[in-house]
Amino acid sequence: MDQQSLDFRVCLLMINGDLNVEGMNDAASETFNGPPEELHEIHCHKLLHGSDMPCDFCKIQSLKSGKENDFTYSFAKEGLIFDCRLSRMTGPVDKPKYIYLIERRSGSPEGSDMQKDRERELIRSRQKAEEADRLKTAFLTNMSHEIRTPMNAIIGFSELLSNPEITQEEISSYTRIIKSRCNHLLQIVNDILDISKIEANQIELKEIHVNLNHLFDDLYMYYAQKVIDEKKFRINLNVEKPQENAGNVIMVDELRLRQIIGNLLDNAVKFTREGKIEFGYRFIEDRVLIYVSDTGIGIAEEKHGNIFERFSQIDTSLVRQFGGNGLGLAICKAFVELMGGKIWLESKVGEGSTFLFTLPRKNGQQDQPEEEKPQEIRNFNWKGKKILLVEDDRSSARFMHELLKLTHVEMAFAYTASEALEIFTGDQHFHLVLMDIQLPDRNGLDLARLFKGYNRTVPIIAQTAYAMEGDNIKCIQAGCDDYISKPLNISDLFLKLDRFLST
Ligand code: ADP
Repeated sequence: MDQQSLDFRVCLLMINGDLNVEGMNDAASETFNGPPEELHEIHCHKLLHGSDMPCDFCKIQSLKSGKENDFTYSFAKEGLIFDCRLSRMTGPVDKPKYIYLIERRSGSPEGSDMQKDRERELIRSRQKAEEADRLKTAFLTNMSHEIRTPMNAIIGFSELLSNPEITQEEISSYTRIIKSRCNHLLQIVNDILDISKIEANQIELKEIHVNLNHLFDDLYMYYAQKVIDEKKFRINLNVEKPQENAGNVIMVDELRLRQIIGNLLDNAVKFTREGKIEFGYRFIEDRVLIYVSDTGIGIAEEKHGNIFERFSQIDTSLVRQFGGNGLGLAICKAFVELMGGKIWLESKVGEGSTFLFTLPRKNGQQDQPEEEKPQEIRNFNWKGKKILLVEDDRSSARFMHELLKLTHVEMAFAYTASEALEIFTGDQHFHLVLMDIQLPDRNGLDLARLFKGYNRTVPIIAQTAYAMEGDNIKCIQAGCDDYISKPLNISDLFLKLDRFLST
């Protein structure tokens, strides 16, 4: 790192009560030669020692003892001046955190306009860091609550299911609750994954021909049922779309578009007790305008500015009342912008809200072949075929066994990579290998390579748990013929298996 380029840049370190580094900005990671994640949890002394950064540990100790809250001091070293500011952040007394700002510059430490500017910059950086830390803590607390609530229901109702005196009616009611709570948990995991993919710039859009009238009809059916399931009988759900069916096909990423409208409709249902929820679309020149409006609680004008920021709901008491993780609108905004559109809202407290977004109108072709429709499970018959299931989690293996039993397929099980290798290279012949890529004794991708090296003709379907784009590509590169994400979409699994087993 050349010294000159560090002049006037502020290195910012966030330090915890044990004096370990918890976070840093780009300037600091450049100065200490390493990406922030590698420098994480390193003791502050170790980090600064060996770099040419001065650090006054007496002052940190003095902050730690609670005698002082803030220090500013300057050092001169090898013709350079270092301005440092050490401050204790707001937060719990038993878990203190400190911000350490270090600025290197040439010249004298005396006050000047430039120095004042830099001081202001230091204060701004500190406030930003404090705000980020506060939001992160609030997010984690809320997330923990959001995850524990469905988990409690799942654990509680699963225990009730083991009561021998339970009636058939109670069994179906409890399993319905367990399934719905599991879906809720899955939604949280998906939102977190989406946010990290957005952050890592890893979202790839897959544009296909989409008939918007069909999509809106589908959404209407789903949400009409949801309104009934949630016993919101005083809500009238309407969909508005062009009468004619021609010209409504556009090229767009259907899954992401569904997700955006779905998020907005979920919120509309959540925040509306009675009245009307309407959603629809219309074409305006070279754009499609899509909207979701409700007569719910509405949003105060001063909140409109940051409602699309992640965790924006965290401070409101509404969280406790309605739940939510505060990521939905941030995901919507990121997807809309990635698709080349804009999103905004119009809302008044007590009157309701309308969320609107535009997308570019890229015309698609009207008559596309219908997507392959999932068949009923009982229609698959793979009698005479044999699958090797490689899965270290015994309950997942058991579930797969119960599921595939219906198709009369024969199954062999391996719980580790070495067991799998032994079985695969033994005297049984398999028509397919279905394998988890996370195994205790060996990376599943290596195992796939070994299988293919031994016998190329046996198809392999990999199961990935991370649902990250990169994982799927790695599976194919390792020689797998296809992949499927966990938790399994059952009809998807059957269609994929059938592709290889029906021949
Ligand atoms: P959440 O999971 O909390 O709903 P979102 O990002 O989807 O997260 O929404 C953020 C916040 O915006 C909500 O917590 C709520 O305060 C407000 N909000 C979103 N949609 C509506 C709506 N239709 N009516 C009233 N408030 C809304």
